[in-house]
Amino acid sequence: MKVANGVHVLPVPRPQDPDSLLNLTLIVDEENGNTLVDAGLPDQMEAIGAALDEAGLGVGDLRRIIFTHQDLDHVGSGAALVRQSGARVLAHSEDAPYIEGSLRPLKLTPEMLEQRPQVRKVLERLEPVSVDEPVEDGTRLDVADGTQVIATPGHTPGHISIYLERPKVLITGDALTAEGGSLKGPNQAMTPDMQTAAQSVRKLADLDVDIIVCYHGGVVDEDANGQLQRVVRETSRDLDE
Ligand SMILES: [Zn+2]
Repeated sequence: MKVANGVHVLPVPRPQDPDSLLNLTLIVDEENGNTLVDAGLPDQMEAIGAALDEAGLGVGDLRRIIFTHQDLDHVGSGAALVRQSGARVLAHSEDAPYIEGSLRPLKLTPEMLEQRPQVRKVLERLEPVSVDEPVEDGTRLDVADGTQVIATPGHTPGHISIYLERPKVLITGDALTAEGGSLKGPNQAMTPDMQTAAQSVRKLADLDVDIIVCYHGGVVDEDANGQLQRVVRETSRDLDE
């Protein structure tokens, strides 16, 4: 689904729960190469390939893959995509060791895996990926005529959001969520540091935004700035309670 000039949202269904969509973002840039933001669960190459095909591209046309963070549903098919495309991988330096497999994914503690054997099964299918370019808050990318990395920790320590300055598109990863076009705060159950996550939301609200893409919940395009302000108020109120 094209949401702005050169920006496509690629909804990919979760294999176990097809009603739940993961919203990858494709940034088409004929001059500087195409970029995919996040890479679904393990074994989702076929679904991602089909979504790219709908946007008129193939896996081989990807020049870079940005991971917003280390979670399983964001890096899952990264290794397979890199193998097929030779794309360079970008992620925040704080999350890179988890993505590269030198540290166990932060939220997947032995206790959690004990309780949720289905997650353990998925984790067993996860392949590590090397991060070619570690990025930080404020890193500028030669993508879509001006793109900024914004560190938005809280959900994970190295969580980033991506701001495309020209089309005013904000790709939030899991720093924000959405439901039916309505913007919502981070998923509290999956966000270990809500204080920091709330500060990250405030930081995002300083941007001038026309379109917000949430990995869980999809596109928010109605009064995006106003909705961001509302979520800042709601998130800080929830923390005060
Ligand atoms: Zn997620």
